[in-house]
Amino acid sequence: AAKQSGRARVQLFDDAMCEATERRVTAERALQAALEIDPIDQLPVWFQPIVSLESKQVVGAEALVRLRGTGGDLIAPGVFIPLAEETGMIVPLGEHVLRTALAQLVAWGDTVPYMSVNVSPKQLAEPEFVPMLTEALSRSGLADASRLVLEITETSMLERGIDLRDRLLAVKALGVRLALDDFGTGYSSLTWLQSVPADIVKLDCSFVVGLSHDQDKASIISAVLWLAQALNMSVVAEGVEDLADAEALTRAGCPAAQGWFFGRPVEAAAWDPGRRQVLGLPSRQAPAVS
Ligand code: C2E
Ligand code: MG
Ligand code: MG
Ligand code: MG
Repeated sequence: AAKQSGRARVQLFDDAMCEATERRVTAERALQAALEIDPIDQLPVWFQPIVSLESKQVVGAEALVRLRGTGGDLIAPGVFIPLAEETGMIVPLGEHVLRTALAQLVAWGDTVPYMSVNVSPKQLAEPEFVPMLTEALSRSGLADASRLVLEITETSMLERGIDLRDRLLAVKALGVRLALDDFGTGYSSLTWLQSVPADIVKLDCSFVVGLSHDQDKASIISAVLWLAQALNMSVVAEGVEDLADAEALTRAGCPAAQGWFFGRPVEAAAWDPGRRQVLGLPSRQAPAVS
């Protein structure tokens, strides 16, 4: 009987592996076709608002790419970005996202002050990255390069095992700003914080979701806010899903936030430029201490 169930387990495992491999191959094909045939239609870039907790206005947008599967369904970046990184397709994919996001930022004008674009370390490591960025900026007609923010993650940078600091300095020299994405999830966040010339820290959603009834999370957030201020960086809290967490962040003095409570990622056509004012939020109160 043991042998029997052992075999059954192996069978199940094989099936699961086949399914995963199949899904992978399907996504890889869809990605390749999308890049070759029609990236604008098949790799749509969606946008999520970033909101100031002080002025309660939209201060920025994060560009988030999706992949249209062969059936018309949308595939999440969590599925195909790792694939794109492994295969090198992240380079043309990232360029497509960057150009699309810049064009959208210019089209929106000052109703959206800045645009945040995720960049994989594999893209950054490309020798052509800075010349490509320079050209994309100038072609977009964006007058003020600081309205572009590039988001990088700690773990992915360390995985590369190469020093991308010079590359980041070259990006900064163009006037583009940098954000540390998913901050707090890496294993050497403090080293990372002092070694990268970043302007913004994006506090990972794991510290934000449920913050209003979790004193430990609230303490971590206060500490990060203090640290960021000492290092002259701004903070955006990710993953704000309800009013209670938005209020707790506001009380803690967090300057900006992003999450389903303020708005889900949407395609550009569904973005409401008139909705700069986010209603229903309390004014910031004086902090309890100092
Ligand atoms: P990220 O850069 O940390 O982006 C934030 C993710 O959190 C997005 O997932 C967003 O939809 C999701 N999110 C927003 N608000 C909430 C909320 O209130 N609660 C929760 N639970 N989640 C929320 P998405 O769009 O699936 O993207 C996943 C990741 O894929 C991104 O994480 C980013 O690392 C990567 N990605 C997306 N687009 C690109 C791209 O163009 N280039 C690269 N290199 N990576 C990308
Ligand atoms: Mg991001
Ligand atoms: Mg993030
Ligand atoms: Mg995140």
